[in-house]
Amino acid sequence: MAGLYVHVPFCAQACSYCDFHFTTQLSDRDAMVNALVAELESMLPEWRDQTFHTLYFGGGTPSVLGPEAIERIAQTAFKNAHWELEEWTLEANPEDLGPAVLQHYRKMGIHRLSIGVQSFDPDVLVWMKRIHGVGRAETAIEDAAQCGFDHLSVDLMYGLPVGFEKRWIQDIEKACELPVDHLSCYILTAEPRTLYGHQLSKGERKEPEEERVVSEYSTLCELSRKAGFEHYEVSNFARPGGRSRHNSSYWEGTPYLGIGPGAHSYKGHTRWWNARSNAQYLKHAAKGTLKEQRETEHLDAAARFNESLITGLRRTEGIDPSVVLSRTGLALNQGVNDAIIRGDCEWVNGRLRIPESRWPMGDSITLGLMR
Ligand code: SF4
Repeated sequence: MAGLYVHVPFCAQACSYCDFHFTTQLSDRDAMVNALVAELESMLPEWRDQTFHTLYFGGGTPSVLGPEAIERIAQTAFKNAHWELEEWTLEANPEDLGPAVLQHYRKMGIHRLSIGVQSFDPDVLVWMKRIHGVGRAETAIEDAAQCGFDHLSVDLMYGLPVGFEKRWIQDIEKACELPVDHLSCYILTAEPRTLYGHQLSKGERKEPEEERVVSEYSTLCELSRKAGFEHYEVSNFARPGGRSRHNSSYWEGTPYLGIGPGAHSYKGHTRWWNARSNAQYLKHAAKGTLKEQRETEHLDAAARFNESLITGLRRTEGIDPSVVLSRTGLALNQGVNDAIIRGDCEWVNGRLRIPESRWPMGDSITLGLMR
């Protein structure tokens, strides 16, 4: 069982907080599609021992490529590997989801759209420099549901330096009223190379108080639960049947192949990744030398142990220590007992997990248990 991730490094506009790998220079779109197809054709023969179950187009904003290019890339993947496709997700900007485009995506077999909304508030959208205007996200979601998409996810952000006091409550309530079965909700982090990072360093903005962020997290947990969502991973919430299978397989340690600039792959005890540069990626794809720009890391037992904790403790199921032991040869250490005494961890049905109330401190709790 494996997953395939295709990274599309283009966005129509740069959001003020984002340091993902993307460019707003769209002139290389056709060359990039050719390069992605070439990488698939060269890599997939090495994955003949695997059956792919999930396909995920992420970015950037994959929807800027349009349906024909997405279909070409996907057909290349389907032709060159063994598939039992359970879930095909496309990340999309609301602006790119007109009714005709939605029908095309549905017809080609996409099951799930992950729509970058971030907020429904006009002032917040302006500060974020989001390309979509007020009301566009709601229309796109309604149209997608009408078109037959049963699985729709929206991304939202909290911990913002802007927005009136009730903004976060209104955003959650609005999202829960819409026909979506999945929410991905992230705390805004200030990255130095972004507009927000510059605003902070120049003193034009202040990061919100930690207390406010924790209170927004509690509000999110409470309102999403009332609306029938299960909090199944630190940042992810699903209605019954709405969990992201592709992302779940990352958290479960399933092999995955990442295609495109900056994309990571994982198989056996090895992880590798492409250069985070469109120019490098395109140059090597054209010369047939993509392997030369890849970096590789062998994961020893301690690295695999730490990875099992980092991914497993982000989930409501937590980790099964016997599975971690069989995969890595390493057992949990004394730190677990101390974490349980502090209330940072708990045992549920033989599995170790971080309680929902402690997830905001999850990274530091996990760090204390690592090798
Ligand atoms: S948040 Fe999404 S749409 Fe905005 S710049 Fe980053 S990848 Fe592009």
